[in-house]
Amino acid sequence: MIHIDGSQGEGGGQIVRSSLALSLVTGRPFTIHRVRARRRKPGLMRQHLTAVQAAMQVSSAHVQGAELGSTQLVFHPESVQSGEYAFRIGTAGSTTLVLQTVLPALMIADGVSSVTLEGGTHNPLAPPFEFLARTYLPLIARLGPQVPVTLHRPGFFPAGLGRISALIHPSPQLGRMELLERGARIGCKVRALVARLPRHIAQRECQTIARATGWDGSCFEVAEIADAPGPGNAVTIELQFEHVTEVFTGFGERGVRAETVAQRTLLQAEQYLATDVPVGEHLADQLLLPLGIGAHQGTGGGTFRTLPLSPHSLTHIQVLKEFLDVSIDVAFGPLGCQVRVEPAR
Ligand code: AMP
Repeated sequence: MIHIDGSQGEGGGQIVRSSLALSLVTGRPFTIHRVRARRRKPGLMRQHLTAVQAAMQVSSAHVQGAELGSTQLVFHPESVQSGEYAFRIGTAGSTTLVLQTVLPALMIADGVSSVTLEGGTHNPLAPPFEFLARTYLPLIARLGPQVPVTLHRPGFFPAGLGRISALIHPSPQLGRMELLERGARIGCKVRALVARLPRHIAQRECQTIARATGWDGSCFEVAEIADAPGPGNAVTIELQFEHVTEVFTGFGERGVRAETVAQRTLLQAEQYLATDVPVGEHLADQLLLPLGIGAHQGTGGGTFRTLPLSPHSLTHIQVLKEFLDVSIDVAFGPLGCQVRVEPAR
């Protein structure tokens, strides 16, 4: 039994989700105490509870503490079964984060799976659908598993009720990845999404970014969703390079002008462009898990270059080391760092 301290480091939801994902992959049971102790509302929130329930379903796990607000969880997985799954969060909690909990196990399982999720698809503090589809999953595909995803309906805070689905074609042994350079820039895409809000919000966001960058009109898309369950606005800037695509996201908020939302989003993209690392802060966080699993299997792992690691990523590395037989070395340089994930020496 692995004992995880949920208050370590950054003390958030990723410790719970990654522990679940790694327990499914390794078959090792774990207990976590002081769940999300460093968050304003500690314990399992609806999104984390759905992640626990999803992990239970795919592995017929025996679980204690799977309740809202629970600060202690015990999780004993049985074997992971590929198949057809549907998970409903019931709030605007992030569908992409729940998917990322069961994806690692299903993408190395012995059969195809389909997963449908209902909840938030564009949430602050979580990967928006575009990041999943354009940044994360193309890199997963390089390790072997092919995972096409579809956005059926966007879901924003607080209404939720968005829907995404994923078809998971597994690859039981993950391959390696070396991601040290971006390569040449090959394109960009700005997508401004409005649901049940005036179209001009999205148009102004595109205009603000167009004026500041001079990017060609063909890079811009306004998407208006009339039948969404609740109002919402998100703008994504996708920067496409030969070896990686990064997506930066901003969210409309009551009382914040569309121009400001656009400028804040552009600032994130400009900060990335001002460096030459291929892997941005969030992607670094999310690549650690699949590279760790591949290294643990002995077939995968690899190296990537990124910005100085966030406290979030450093905490994530500690959790990976609890479950996996891997070595993770971080070499700090003046302009960022190089992360190397290999089978344990
Ligand atoms: P936690 O805060 O522990 O629940 O984890 C949040 C997860 O969402 C981490 O893996 C972050 O890297 C990821 N994340 C947060 N914001 C973004 C964003 N704008 N784009 C992509 N991923 C994000």
